[in-house]
Amino acid sequence: MTPDIEHLDAMPTRLKLTAIRERLDALLDEAARRELTLRETLSYLCEQEVAHKAQRRIQMGLSIARFPFLRTLEGFDFNAQPVVDPGQIRELACGRWIANGDALLLLGPPGVGKSHLAVALGREAVKTGYSVLFTTATALITQLVQAHASGDLEERSRHFAKPKLLIIDELGYLPLEPGAANLFFQLVTRRYERGSLLVTSNRAVSEWGEVFGDTVVATAIPDRLLHHSHVITIRGDSYRLRAKRKAGLIKPDSSHHHEQIVSG
Ligand code: ADP
Ligand code: MG
Repeated sequence: MTPDIEHLDAMPTRLKLTAIRERLDALLDEAARRELTLRETLSYLCEQEVAHKAQRRIQMGLSIARFPFLRTLEGFDFNAQPVVDPGQIRELACGRWIANGDALLLLGPPGVGKSHLAVALGREAVKTGYSVLFTTATALITQLVQAHASGDLEERSRHFAKPKLLIIDELGYLPLEPGAANLFFQLVTRRYERGSLLVTSNRAVSEWGEVFGDTVVATAIPDRLLHHSHVITIRGDSYRLRAKRKAGLIKPDSSHHHEQIVSG
C-alpha cells in the first residue's frame, strides 16, 4: 500500500507531533541537505519532537509555578555572597533533596538573595521535571484562612499539598494568629515527607515561637521542617545596598549594620 501523502498534515496532529507538523518541510529539507539515510531522518525528526516537547513541558511548568520574577542561578553573584557555597547550591540544583522530600530553609536578613535563590532553585526543579508552586507566606496563609472560613479548606489544602516542591517565601515577616498558625501547621504536616518545602525567612528558627504565637505549633513546625532539612543561613549586607556602595552612593557605616545613604 502506498502511504497517503495527503494526510501527512493530519497524522502528526493526531499523534500530537507538533514540531514535526509545524516544521515538516524545513526538517525534510534539512535532512536532504545533510544527505541523511531514512533511519537517520526518522531519528532527526524524533529528536526535534522530543526537544520541542521538553521545551513545552518546562514552559508549562514555569507558568504553573507562578514565580513572581525571573531569577537564575547563572545570575547569582557568588563572589558577592561568600557565605553561600556554590558547590552546595549546585548540588541542591540537582534536586535530590526534592526527590527525598527534604526541606530547604534559606534564612537571613532582607536583601541577601534568599528569594533570588528560591526562584532560581525552583526553576531548576521545574527543568528537572518536578512540579513546583511558589507562594509567599502571607498569600498562603490568607488563602488557607479564607478557605477555612468558607468551607473550602480541603480543596485549597490539596492545591498547596500537590506540588512536589512548595516554595514559601518570606515566612515570619508578620506574626500569625493562632488559628492561622494551626492551618499552616496542618499543611506542613500534610506535605511532610511526601513533598518538599523551600522556606525563606528573615527570622532564625529560634525566633519562630514569636512568629507562630501558639507554643505547641511553634515547636511542632520547626520540628517537622528541620527533620530531613538543609539550612542555609546567609549573613551580610543587602546586595542592592552593596552595589550602591560600590558605586559610591553609600558610605559604609562604622558599625557595619547601619548604612547611610549619602546621595541618590
Ligand atoms: P531577600 O529575599 O533575601 O530579601 P532578594 O533575593 O530579593 O533578597 O535580593 C534582592 C535583590 O538583589 C534581588 O533583585 C536579587 O536578584 C538581588 N541579589 C541578591 N543577592 C544577589 C547575588 N548574590 N547576586 C545577584 N543578585 C543578587
Ligand atoms: Mg525575599
